[in-house]
Amino acid sequence: MPTVFLKTYGCQMNERDTEQVARQLFDRGYTRAASEKEADVILLNTCSVRDLAEQKALRKMSNLRVLRKAKPEVVLGFLGCMAQRRGDSLEKDMAGLDLVVGTQKFHRVADLVDQAREARLGGRPKFFAEVGEEEGSEKTIRDHTLAPKQVTAFVSVMQGCDMHCSFCIVPTTRGKERSRPIAEILTEVRSLVEQGVREVTLLGQIVNMYGRREIPIVEGKSAFVQLLEEMDRVEGLERIRFTSPHPRGMKADLVGCYGRLAKLCEHLHLPVQSGSDRILKRMGRGYTAAQYRKTIEEVRKVCPGVGLTTDIIVGYPGETEEDFMATRDLMEEVGFDNGFIFRYSPREGTRAVSEAGAEVPEATKEKWNTDLLEVLDRQAAASAKIRVGSLQQILVEGPSKTNASRLMGRTRQNRLVVFEGGPRHVGQLLTVRITESTGFTDYADPSILN
Ligand code: SF4
Repeated sequence: MPTVFLKTYGCQMNERDTEQVARQLFDRGYTRAASEKEADVILLNTCSVRDLAEQKALRKMSNLRVLRKAKPEVVLGFLGCMAQRRGDSLEKDMAGLDLVVGTQKFHRVADLVDQAREARLGGRPKFFAEVGEEEGSEKTIRDHTLAPKQVTAFVSVMQGCDMHCSFCIVPTTRGKERSRPIAEILTEVRSLVEQGVREVTLLGQIVNMYGRREIPIVEGKSAFVQLLEEMDRVEGLERIRFTSPHPRGMKADLVGCYGRLAKLCEHLHLPVQSGSDRILKRMGRGYTAAQYRKTIEEVRKVCPGVGLTTDIIVGYPGETEEDFMATRDLMEEVGFDNGFIFRYSPREGTRAVSEAGAEVPEATKEKWNTDLLEVLDRQAAASAKIRVGSLQQILVEGPSKTNASRLMGRTRQNRLVVFEGGPRHVGQLLTVRITESTGFTDYADPSILN
């Protein structure tokens, strides 16, 4: 039986797409290779958000070609965002590549892999590239490869983004916004629940704008709120999350869900990107820092203990110390549980690239990055102090990634909790007492497990 090795770079949507590709290949009889060396097919699902991510995947593929010495028939392919952005020019940059498959063609991977494999085995390797647009491709990410006792799953509800923030390559790599019908999503969720899944995270580039073109507002409720309400009614499903929303889509109907829908977890990852109105405007984000603060205030009003996380870019072209301080002030004021701080990296084909001459020196980006990470550390330590001694509900996902002899779960606020439990606890909702915390990971006392 042929074996396949899949590696994913980038975000949760990429993870989800890889899972779909794996499902197709397993259905054709492929099995998962234990390592790259043993694989008959190696596919890298790539990310384009930063140049660094592209370079990593390119370097990796370049090294993988060495495997051909021992195994000339191994099939090598790039999938996803970089494949979409660079298209068949990748073949010129990387001789010996068999496949390049873009973000709207994941459902074609198994066919193309078979063809590429046949060509290699026949001693006449051929290059295949599919990077066109395809109507309805958003509906093709719907199958799963659940591990035994897997209790959490991602469900892709929309693809693409029409927001065109000045720094972002996603509208190029992922195409126009397209959403799946509510009924199809519910069928997928119900099937996951039947297989033991208890928590579902809805995925989309701007997930809270789901269906805004396809599904009409009903009684003041957006398509996304209608979807959340339906999900809340799915029997056996315990928890709902979503990522990533756009601040512009955080309208009253959605904010109100936090106080109203029992299964919606008390966690919001809301990318702010900057606390400076001047920079937000140039980024084309469509909100001000005051509007962002107001949204947070409203969410906290209906959901006082909500866990908040964000994304921030430092060193956007033309960003001054004053702009940076506005971001820092916003962070201090909001008090995020965690955040991803990115140093601005220019992406060819985005509007921000034309801001030549306004680049922020790398050393300044580094300094600002460190500064914001220190704010996050300090805030995490302060909130950890309050949590120690408290009771928290966790959904136990499986062994801890850093110490397989322990188990890990997440609170409804999406905080990681590690504890010493047994296999029988996996998949359960437990109430545990927090005994210690590093700020970003909490530890629970096993003696009071219920
Ligand atoms: S909303 Fe998000 S995905 Fe869309 S362009 Fe802006 S940053 Fe990129």
